[in-house]
Amino acid sequence: MSVPMMDAIVKATAGPGLELRKVPVPVPGPGEVLIKVHKTAICGTDVHIYNWDPWATEHIKPPMTIGHEYVGEIAQLGEGVTGLEIGQRVSGEGHLTCHRCRNCHTGNIQWCKDTVSVGVDRDGAFAEYLCIPQENVIRIDESLPEDVVAFFDAFGNATHTALMFDLIGEDVLITGAGPIGIIAAGVCKFAGARRVVITDINDDRLALARKMGVDAAVNTAREDLPKIMKEQGLVEGFDVGLEMSGNGMALQQMIDVMRNGGKIALLGISNKPVALNMNTVITKGLTMQGIYGRKMDTWHQMSYMVQGGLDVSSVITHRYHYTDFQKGFEAMNSGKSGKVILDWSK
Ligand code: NAD
Ligand code: ZN
Repeated sequence: MSVPMMDAIVKATAGPGLELRKVPVPVPGPGEVLIKVHKTAICGTDVHIYNWDPWATEHIKPPMTIGHEYVGEIAQLGEGVTGLEIGQRVSGEGHLTCHRCRNCHTGNIQWCKDTVSVGVDRDGAFAEYLCIPQENVIRIDESLPEDVVAFFDAFGNATHTALMFDLIGEDVLITGAGPIGIIAAGVCKFAGARRVVITDINDDRLALARKMGVDAAVNTAREDLPKIMKEQGLVEGFDVGLEMSGNGMALQQMIDVMRNGGKIALLGISNKPVALNMNTVITKGLTMQGIYGRKMDTWHQMSYMVQGGLDVSSVITHRYHYTDFQKGFEAMNSGKSGKVILDWSK
């Protein structure tokens, strides 16, 4: 009997680029679910893998299918799967956790010490079908737009970071107007922040952030942030900071403009160690919280925020059929893109 085959975007060998290849359709084992992929979104991680940078060299074991931002429908249930139905619209939490470590035991699965990532450590979602454990399947209401659900994974990073600290009436600084920073800006405004100021050094990204309704989008390469803070009516500094650039200079600048007692959530990942003026952190009494991934509850929060009127679709800048995936990666590498959506319909 011949094995059913499907199209998949594959990191075939240890080097730059990706290939569209025929690979076997995965077979769901006990407790697993097969998902037919409708739409996917390209994440910065996928670009690292495409470009084959030092991070990818260290983490990716070719050949494998990449991708972890997606929406689709259940195509097949493995043995013993209950509570899910074929045809249901779903996405999936991309972090598989161990169930045994201390954080898993306390429900803090976002801090599991043995996380396995879809599309990084095991085959991913840039394919016609994807297989994940049933506990990672997230049911998605039919009322939610698929183009937005396609990037719920990244939206989840933004949401988890943005909602780490109270926002009502607070002044928020977001450093880094990449897709995640821009989405986080939308979440902060929706959640009741007074002023949301975003910084970047890329004008295209700042223009995209303005479409999300930020109060100020500041190019810190040539504009004076304290001056803009004054124009925005800030008195003692920002109450909440969301570091979403992964750039050490941006983090130091954030620390410098926080009010005493301010709170910073750190999402951006730096590709090298960062030097900080720790005395400022101490004398200001700042709280700094690292953020990794999302909580499972974040998926519910996103669905309900979107149903309640939060529209983050302005962050989508490009849409391609999956057979044109190269164009999608070129757009991501151009620095001019927000989210890039790939359509997997035949
Ligand atoms: P991105 O690379 O698209 O965006 C980062 C932005 O920061 C870019 O627009 C860049 O121009 C800007 N930037 C660079 N230097 C700056 C500076 N000095 N001041 C202000 N902005 C500056 O990334 P993204 O996809 O939006 O993700 C945001 C960050 O979050 C990345 O660092 C990514 O690696 C990280 N991330 C972390 C997690 C996690 O679980 N912790 C998950 C996803 C992404
Ligand atoms: Zn664990």
